[in-house]
Amino acid sequence: MKVEFFNKSFLDKKSASTNEAVPVANYAVAGMLLLIICVFLYRIVLFIPVSLNDEWIKIRWGSTVRDVIVKEKIVLKRGDLKDTKGKLLRKEGGRAPGVFINGSEVSLSAILRRGHRVTIRPGVDIVEEVERKVETIQPATYVSGKGAFLSIGSTGHPGMKIVNIGSSTGRIISEEIVRASKPVMLKRAIHTTNQVVALTFDDGPSSLYTPQILAILQAEQIPAAFFIIGSQAKKHPGILSEMAATGYIVGNHTYSHSMLGDASTSEIFGEIEKTEKVIKEATGVGSHWFRPPGGSMSLAIVESATLEGCRTILWSVDPLDWMRPSADTICDRVMNQIHPGAVIILHDGGGDRSATVQALPKIITALREKGYSFVKLDEIEGSE
Ligand SMILES: [Zn+2]
Repeated sequence: MKVEFFNKSFLDKKSASTNEAVPVANYAVAGMLLLIICVFLYRIVLFIPVSLNDEWIKIRWGSTVRDVIVKEKIVLKRGDLKDTKGKLLRKEGGRAPGVFINGSEVSLSAILRRGHRVTIRPGVDIVEEVERKVETIQPATYVSGKGAFLSIGSTGHPGMKIVNIGSSTGRIISEEIVRASKPVMLKRAIHTTNQVVALTFDDGPSSLYTPQILAILQAEQIPAAFFIIGSQAKKHPGILSEMAATGYIVGNHTYSHSMLGDASTSEIFGEIEKTEKVIKEATGVGSHWFRPPGGSMSLAIVESATLEGCRTILWSVDPLDWMRPSADTICDRVMNQIHPGAVIILHDGGGDRSATVQALPKIITALREKGYSFVKLDEIEGSE
């Protein structure tokens, strides 16, 4: 009985000791298991597999394309623009890099999901395309001589060239002349060596100065030509009809005093034609003379005037009276430049012309003293 008691007591003690150790071990095992499960879940849930350029990698859940590019140290750089010989034309002027998820292009902020196939296409250098253009070479215009009468020596012709142009940069790569242009040759002629001059007045009519000038000329029995501005003449048709009725030449000086040097042929023709209408309405006949404002000279000007039945005329003596020097200065300048067959330009309109009016009798007297006589433009031209 004692033994049994002892044994029982011993067994009870042993049993009590084992019962205390088992829970501790269980907790440890459970803890380990929990940790493993947590790590496993952490790996499973927080890191997802994606394919980057056909290689599977794990990325943190919720990552964007940009995050992956930064993590993988991928450089996204646009390609360069180069010419056909490989020379750099524009840094990063080539094709941009692209990012694709499952074949569709996406932005860098696109969020990646489990199993996405990400493809990163690097920037690509591109070779600039070359455009071939056929262009006209406008002929140069040369003017020879110093006389007032302008005519065409040679109409010349335009040329043709092929131009290779870089389509992105617009630079001219090369030019190939197919046909050279031939220059336009204009001639300024003095038609006589006789001791004659022609007086001309521009930019009128003026209701104030033109009648005064006409009165002086009529009193002195001197012919002259008035190159009128169409828009101005429209306001004073009576002055034009008086000029024509008393034998003065009414010349065409464009409708709006446009500088025609760079004008298109249709603009030039329009300016001349509109003024011809004004002259015809006031005088019953058209003009035979055209003077381009500022003395602009071009083939289109001469040809347009010819189409309207006008000869183109400039001048050979210019005292710059429009700058309003004194009457004596105007007269002195005329006398310093005078030559046989001269065409003198003065102004009856476009500003204060009182000095010109004052200078006119002085000029007439001085020229007569030098033996000059006054003739019409037609007479100078026809006296060659
Ligand atoms: Zn003028």
